Amino acid sequence: MGGIIKMNIILMGLPGAGKGTQAEKIIAEYNIPHISTGDMFRAAMANETALGLKAKSYMDQGALVPDEVTNGIVKERLAESDTEKGFLLDGFPRTLEQAQALDQMLTELGKKIDAVIDIHVPEDILVDRLAGRYMCRECGATYHKIFNPTTVEGTCDRCGGHDFYQREDDKPETVKNRLAINIKNSEPILAYYKEEGLLQSIDGNREIDTVFEDVKKIIE
Ligand code: ADP
Ligand code: ADP
Ligand code: ZN
Repeated sequence: MGGIIKMNIILMGLPGAGKGTQAEKIIAEYNIPHISTGDMFRAAMANETALGLKAKSYMDQGALVPDEVTNGIVKERLAESDTEKGFLLDGFPRTLEQAQALDQMLTELGKKIDAVIDIHVPEDILVDRLAGRYMCRECGATYHKIFNPTTVEGTCDRCGGHDFYQREDDKPETVKNRLAINIKNSEPILAYYKEEGLLQSIDGNREIDTVFEDVKKIIE
């Protein structure tokens, strides 16, 4: 049903777990702003801003952009007035330092996190998901060659665009490194939110709509 909720949510999961895919469904259903650090960095890169140039060398290697840069853009974004409606953080925090910085920002803004949803998917499946992921250059919509193709071949479901690309960091050389870095960093964050009683884990190795049913149960 959806409608009005005012929740501050963190979506966690390793690269390929389905954060972006579920985020799209959540924002469509609940109308809260989607704050994806990966999307913000990709937009900055496409526009060749100073931030984009800074982020590019890290992203292309599958490394994390330094905390001070990442924390800075999230802090600015959270201060915008649309976060009064709630917000969905996707891909942030990715280090324990970021999680601690986030708490500090939220305290300053008089906000708090209501739920942390961790989408869990086994590593071998993540490799297949990243290898087959492709994106619309026009609107950034995400697809998968086998698991989630466009309805009409070669045409974006969301914007009708015809220009698709594979992310530089989804190439096999980079994927291993990215997964390793993210696995190492995610454990302490999950422990941190578990300790705070905020962590909800769901099995992300099922159909997209089945996973979304679980997400909705948590939100509602
Ligand atoms: P995925 O969807 O595969 O999980 P994202 O699109 O969220 O990846 O992120 C892509 C890249 O952007 C990361 O590999 C990293 O280089 C950078 N990035 C995104 N979020 C963060 C973050 N919270 N901290 C540091 N780097 C980040
Ligand atoms: P993340 O943002 O966590 O990196 P994405 O949402 O981009 O993950 O999903 C990674 C890839 O897996 C994409 O190609 C997407 O179409 C596909 N995908 C997402 N969810 C599922 C699912 N439940 N089952 C199969 N494939 C999925
Ligand atoms: Zn599109």
